[in-house]
Amino acid sequence: MSRLEVHQIPVLNDNYVYLARCRATGATGVVDPAVAEPVLAEAERLGWRITHILNTHHHGDHTGGNLEIKQATGCTIVGPKADRDRIPGIDVEVDEGDRYTMGEAEAEVFFVPGHTRGHIAYWFAESDALFCGDTLFALGCGRLFEGAPAQMWDSLSKLKRLPKTAKVYCAHEYTQANARFALSVDAANDRLKARAEEIDRLRAAGTPTVPSTLGEELATNPFLRADAPDLAAQLGLSGADPVEVFAEVRGRKDRF
Ligand code: ZN
Ligand code: FE
Repeated sequence: MSRLEVHQIPVLNDNYVYLARCRATGATGVVDPAVAEPVLAEAERLGWRITHILNTHHHGDHTGGNLEIKQATGCTIVGPKADRDRIPGIDVEVDEGDRYTMGEAEAEVFFVPGHTRGHIAYWFAESDALFCGDTLFALGCGRLFEGAPAQMWDSLSKLKRLPKTAKVYCAHEYTQANARFALSVDAANDRLKARAEEIDRLRAAGTPTVPSTLGEELATNPFLRADAPDLAAQLGLSGADPVEVFAEVRGRKDRF
């Protein structure tokens, strides 16, 4: 049985905050609390006791609730070592390859810089759950605020190696806009076309498109397909290095 029970809380315009509860112990982590109030209220409603905050990076829409939640619950704040000075209230610093255990649920930490220079992701293998913040989105990836294309491609390549069944719990509902862009660079991709239609149906019904699975992303997310010859060909970059293809896709998205 999956060790984690995950509850998704939509906040602000398009952020998702997650409550991840270890079924065996009741330990509950909040992933990237943009805000405190709705998170505390939802935990209360569920009867879940918040014991941890897991931050992926320092941006305010991922850490804005840190101090208030810590004050209300006495929880432990876990965050990226490389960003220790930018994570409010950080107690435990983690880095590439570290394993952090919350209750009995173990997360492997990946250092995935690019969106920010300290970004990390949490991989709960037993639960098939990846919390990747603003590094990988459904059909997209984070803007390169503090990193270069080669670095982001390297970060995404770490995530590409996880099982296809991995659930991708990203931090924003950007999927519909991402789909429109993806179709502009990968129009020949039938699975992408079908997925884009499905996303339109889900959004029209007000249903989240997150989490997706890594398998879906590998097949349809143009940022993960920078090493796919058929995508490179559509961009006029046949034979180019994946980093060059990735940079082209990222650049086009920035101007889309
Ligand atoms: Zn961010
Ligand atoms: Fe964000």
